[in-house]
Amino acid sequence: MKKPQNERINWVRTIPFTLIHLSPLLLFWTGVTWFSVFLCIGLYAARMFFITAGYHRYFAHRSYHLNRLGQFLMALGGTLAAQKGPLWWAANHRHHHQYSDQPEDIHSPIKGFLWSHVGWMMSDKYYETKTDRIQDLAKYPELRWLDAHPLVPPFLLAIGIFLLWGPAALVMGFFVSTIFLWHVTFSINSIAHVVGSRRYVTHDTSRNFLPLALLTGGEGWHNNHHYFPSSARQGFFWWEIDLSYYTLKVMSWFRLVKKLRVPPKAILQLNRIKDGIPDIGMFKDHMRRAHRVIEKTKASTEAAYAHQKELVGHAMESAKQQTEDWVRLSKGAARIKK
Ligand SMILES: [Zn+2]
Ligand SMILES: [Zn+2]
Repeated sequence: MKKPQNERINWVRTIPFTLIHLSPLLLFWTGVTWFSVFLCIGLYAARMFFITAGYHRYFAHRSYHLNRLGQFLMALGGTLAAQKGPLWWAANHRHHHQYSDQPEDIHSPIKGFLWSHVGWMMSDKYYETKTDRIQDLAKYPELRWLDAHPLVPPFLLAIGIFLLWGPAALVMGFFVSTIFLWHVTFSINSIAHVVGSRRYVTHDTSRNFLPLALLTGGEGWHNNHHYFPSSARQGFFWWEIDLSYYTLKVMSWFRLVKKLRVPPKAILQLNRIKDGIPDIGMFKDHMRRAHRVIEKTKASTEAAYAHQKELVGHAMESAKQQTEDWVRLSKGAARIKK
């Protein structure tokens, strides 16, 4: 089926995004130093924190309180990850929670794994910030400014790294780190809805997946998160490692963040899939897949029927033609006999 024009990848607009993926080739020229590797890891971890604790748990879900300066710094840190502005990010993410894995969902893997991973953001459809979903944030002019100029902070960061430490630090510390940061973050929209286990009954296909939780500072507990989205803590049990939450907890001791919201204990024990409660999210997914197979089979059967009908039509036409020829010939032969 052909995608609508605004859901097709806009290759022109995404040239910088594509080119950055080729930037590791520059390492053959710049070389790799130990310092650049540490910078890569450090900038990955720091910016991942701003994305998960800031863009996601604060701006999209308001799962704790920040004062205005803290809010601005969290937004500024988030923009350094080059994932557009805080308002755009939060608006799309709120939409995802409202329509998870339904036809309206912005990045459900039901529309295709690659679509959920990068396709949706490379299309024109979700380019603009949907301000109706983020009225609570859009009232702050400093956040609106960052959202309108999201490339300024990462650009300045890249220039700063280059001036301070040279080309190897720029390529490894900024570009390679950013590529990792992107794809691990995107994996929450793609892999965390496809791979892993489900603990809670939700209306979507979200999963808990330890490797992603380790790489993202706790975001891999995605089924937990879809079950109780307003929680600042996504690893609900002690063994579910959630580095972003631990960091926020430490920050709360210094009053840098306040009122961290966590789910009530009783809620954690309810709606468990293993209790025999039908898994609505997966049931809907299976039904959708079955429906797709039926639709495909129907379409191919209809096409085969149309083809057969056409062949029969041709055969009938040629038989008719042959009969007419034969009648004409017999009449001619009869006339000759006479
Ligand atoms: Zn999700
Ligand atoms: Zn969320």
